[in-house]
Amino acid sequence: MTSYRPPEGRPTSPHLPFGDRRDAPWYGQSIISVRQFQPADLDYVFGVAHEMREMVGRVGTFDLLKGKLLANLFYEPSTRTASSFMAAMQRLGGTVIPINEVRYSSVSKGESLPDTIRTLECYADCIVLRHPQMGAAAEAAAVARKPIINAGDGVGEHPTQALLDLFTIAIELGRYSPRTGLDLSGLTITLLGDLKYGRTVHSLSRLLAPMDVRLNFVSPPTLRMPEHLMTELATGTARTTELDALDPVLADSDVLYVTRVQKERFEDVALYESLKHAFVIDRQTLTRARDTMIVMHPFPRVGEIAYDVDPDPRAAYFRQMENGMYVRMALLAMVLGKA
Ligand code: ASP
Repeated sequence: MTSYRPPEGRPTSPHLPFGDRRDAPWYGQSIISVRQFQPADLDYVFGVAHEMREMVGRVGTFDLLKGKLLANLFYEPSTRTASSFMAAMQRLGGTVIPINEVRYSSVSKGESLPDTIRTLECYADCIVLRHPQMGAAAEAAAVARKPIINAGDGVGEHPTQALLDLFTIAIELGRYSPRTGLDLSGLTITLLGDLKYGRTVHSLSRLLAPMDVRLNFVSPPTLRMPEHLMTELATGTARTTELDALDPVLADSDVLYVTRVQKERFEDVALYESLKHAFVIDRQTLTRARDTMIVMHPFPRVGEIAYDVDPDPRAAYFRQMENGMYVRMALLAMVLGKA
């Protein structure tokens, strides 16, 4: 594994097309890592996402990004991230170049990532990139004149997912309002499953690290959080505990964030098979949890949450997906200088 560390601060694009608000705080910037977001930025993102939700409820589609074009460049499979970015752009009146099957593009002829990025930015105003290699989004941002949004870089980060996850926690538990801002203090958040390869939990725990929360990391011993990440989290205020069983922390959890064992990151299929159902959440599990606890999952689920959990009001994962669109609308409006 490379020793890539996400960049501090915000990479800024020098590109300033006519008609955009140059004073918008995220204008022209790439979103590569959650490390770019300070607590005050979260209030800002959530404020815009909240407005987006209201607007979609009221009018469905509106023209904030009319005339803007997004390139959706996916080198790995995606359902929610790709389609919610497309929906977000279209709800805002913009259009999308979808490149979901890189094998039908010049990538299959051996084109390099920098060349593909520099090509797409000739046509689009912003590029959403998912790539199997950690650090790929930062590499793309280094050559790009237009904003790059990291939609998952291997086992590295998935910043937009973490933002929508945090938005969901805050909304579901009544910890955010545009008037009072965000306050998660005192919450216990339990992250469960493949913490080694799961990029969503890497980004989410980084985002939670500077807050007054308790983070329980529950996984099979071989799928623990990477050591470098635990060291990094230790510099924050969040109290962290690593466990290999859920029961000791279930009853005290406000959030149970479940992840899939990341099959595509395993070289040893037998090892994957032995771990894939190490934890299964079902209706029975929830009898031992708080009535107010929420269950989240970035999806796809492949057996970690039984279908009998779905009717339980604590199952928040479909609401979480919907929030993804509002948060991605907010991020697109921000980097394109309209929020
Ligand atoms: N969809 C999420 C991701 O791209 C979670 C997963 O695939 O398990 O990281």
